[in-house]
Amino acid sequence: MTSNRPISDLLVSKNPVLSVEFFPPKDEAGGELIVRTALEIKEQVKPDFVSITYGAGGSTRERTFRYAKLLKDEYGFEVMPHLTCVGSSKEEIREIVSEWQDAGFCNIMALRGDPPKGETEFRPHPDGFHYADELVAFLRDNFSGFSLGVAGYPEVHPEAPDAAADLANLKRKVDAGGSFVTTQLFYDNSYFRSFVDGCRAAGIAVPVLPGLMPIRSATQARRFCKHVPAELDAALEEAGDDKAKVHEIGIDWTCRQIRELLAWGAPGVHLYIMNRSRMAVEVLRRLRAEGLFRAE
Ligand SMILES: Cc1cc2nc3c(=O)[nH]c(=O)nc-3n(C[C@H](O)[C@H](O)[C@H](O)COP(=O)(O)OP(=O)(O)OC[C@H]3O[C@@H](n4cnc5c(N)ncnc54)[C@H](O)[C@@H]3O)c2cc1C
Repeated sequence: MTSNRPISDLLVSKNPVLSVEFFPPKDEAGGELIVRTALEIKEQVKPDFVSITYGAGGSTRERTFRYAKLLKDEYGFEVMPHLTCVGSSKEEIREIVSEWQDAGFCNIMALRGDPPKGETEFRPHPDGFHYADELVAFLRDNFSGFSLGVAGYPEVHPEAPDAAADLANLKRKVDAGGSFVTTQLFYDNSYFRSFVDGCRAAGIAVPVLPGLMPIRSATQARRFCKHVPAELDAALEEAGDDKAKVHEIGIDWTCRQIRELLAWGAPGVHLYIMNRSRMAVEVLRRLRAEGLFRAE
């Protein structure tokens, strides 16, 4: 595994690319879990890069930085910290990114972020950014050497009036300097295919990395995605509270999604692992046995 490598370069030189997402834990138990998971992910999943989210709370800046450094320095992962516009002025964003650059990071997932808990509408900081494209442009104009990822929504972002408006926004983010897109999770691959077709038709030419999350419960699947395919929904319904069955359905479905996506030409896969390794380990074990994602 290499470090300090722009993900935009990686996406040109390697196919398929595999990445996983962590979130910074809030307490000691969560800290122990991420350390255990990181080791298992390093040894058994062997991703090309990992990302770490940026929460809405005030302590996220410090925690995202601390765990991003841990993942990079202790485990040798190529790490992409996420950054949102929530609650930060432009000057604070400049300080955060300078700190990351000094620590050797060269990738950032640039996001607007969701409204803080209890608020329904995103309200920009008076000296901050309204939308992610403004953050991307700021990073491009004020820092050199960063590879910038931006978020895409195969099921359309909930605040967007329609798919066309959402794609127009994505184009603004890419035109501002986003060099690849990672998508929100989906369980129906046809949404990803239509989304990528829409991107290409709109002139968005950068790689689009599909984001997938192995299903851990029927409730979770229905909460996270608007479209749960009828076949998957029926299988989950039949499994009911049988955790082992739901687990098996989750692994099967993710493997099936990945096989189809790669056969269709997706540049790789991003796995939302929720700081747990088991499902990612099982998915990769199966796919590697089939000759996909060969570990180098
Ligand atoms: C891969 C990925 C990683 C994520 N990581 C995190 C994370 O670490 N932390 C976190 O808090 N959240 C994270 N999120 C969630 C994300 O912050 C939310 O989905 C947020 O609501 C939108 O962020 P964005 O960067 O896509 O925003 P934007 O691209 O700014 O879009 C936000 C909304 O505004 C609309 N819009 C944009 N520009 C305009 C305009 N000029 N006029 C009118 N409407 C406009 C868009 O269509 C969209 O509906 C992640 C999402 C994804 C897909």
